[in-house]
Amino acid sequence: MTSCVSVTCETNEVIASVKTIPAGKMLLNEPLARYTSWRVGGPAEQYYRPADIKDLSVFISQLDSHQSVFWLGGGSNLLIRDGGISGTVIHLRRSLDQIRLEADGRLYVEAGVGCPQVARFCQKNGLSGASFLVGIPGTIGGALTMNAGAFGGETWQLVSEVELMDRQGHRQWLQSSSIQVGYRKVDVPQGQCFVAARLAFSATGYDDHAMMQELLERRRLSQPINIPTCGSVFKNPEAGFAAQLIERCGLKGHQIGQARVSEKHANFIENTGGASAADIELLINLIQNSVEREHNIRLETEVRIVGEPLSLDQ
Ligand SMILES: Cc1cc2nc3c(=O)[nH]c(=O)nc-3n(C[C@H](O)[C@H](O)[C@H](O)COP(=O)(O)OP(=O)(O)OC[C@H]3O[C@@H](n4cnc5c(N)ncnc54)[C@H](O)[C@@H]3O)c2cc1C
Repeated sequence: MTSCVSVTCETNEVIASVKTIPAGKMLLNEPLARYTSWRVGGPAEQYYRPADIKDLSVFISQLDSHQSVFWLGGGSNLLIRDGGISGTVIHLRRSLDQIRLEADGRLYVEAGVGCPQVARFCQKNGLSGASFLVGIPGTIGGALTMNAGAFGGETWQLVSEVELMDRQGHRQWLQSSSIQVGYRKVDVPQGQCFVAARLAFSATGYDDHAMMQELLERRRLSQPINIPTCGSVFKNPEAGFAAQLIERCGLKGHQIGQARVSEKHANFIENTGGASAADIELLINLIQNSVEREHNIRLETEVRIVGEPLSLDQ
């Protein structure tokens, strides 16, 4: 795919057309299970990994405007169905990978940088307030979209401004106050994606290495961390905790196919090896129905369920 950039001389006459060719990696029918933390998910009809932000802008500006686009970060909050995703999946993890401290003390970080990397970068540079990101396995782009949080910290508490890209490849910085955010909920402007953010930190306090180790240890003790999961499957309801409600239904250890409600933390579903997305989705539905029947509360998924079920000819 190519586009033409007009080159003009001082009198504004067009003197040449230079073709801009996207420099990233394009694959057809690429299995997505390898990019999700649950290790499930069918193929992307078209998969693109941009070389960098500018390349993403070139690529997206040339994409047919009718073609659907799905933004993939670390795949750690996604249940991609077994039939995969039609249209184009754009994978930002590690391709939008710049992180640097700016002269005014803010942190510039691109959407594909991992949350643990941000936490460690901040700790090394004496910036306080990002240590909660250390155990969140997704990208900053995903954390901005989910308002990811842990141990009292939330992503948008740190955000000063965000850079968005639209379907024409145009980039625009917005103040954090212009984006509506809530508990694991962010109103991303229609058709746009986050490509970078500037994070600001409090001048006082210091997150030391020991503090981050302690947060990781608290996770290790309470969550199944060496088994494929997507973290918490359900949001906590207004009153109480999803895990407690699931546990009270006697569902710990309940299994459908190779998908199992964790014995360690009832709001986690483990892929015990070879689970399909359909196994996991059935278990999600079963949990929602059981909790609703016993506690009169309909749990809302935190994990995003996307793509198509397997069709008979797949
Ligand atoms: C072991 C484990 C522990 C976890 N612990 C926590 C926790 O403590 N707290 C917490 O909040 N979450 C937790 N999670 C869930 C997950 O890591 C977060 O929700 C994370 O923010 C998702 O980021 P991601 O890059 O993986 O996003 P993905 O899963 O790739 O995508 C999630 C959604 O964001 C969209 N998206 C991704 N990038 C962009 C972008 N740049 N622009 C626009 N849209 C985008 C996707 O289209 C999708 O809709 C955990 C997950 C695991 C596996």
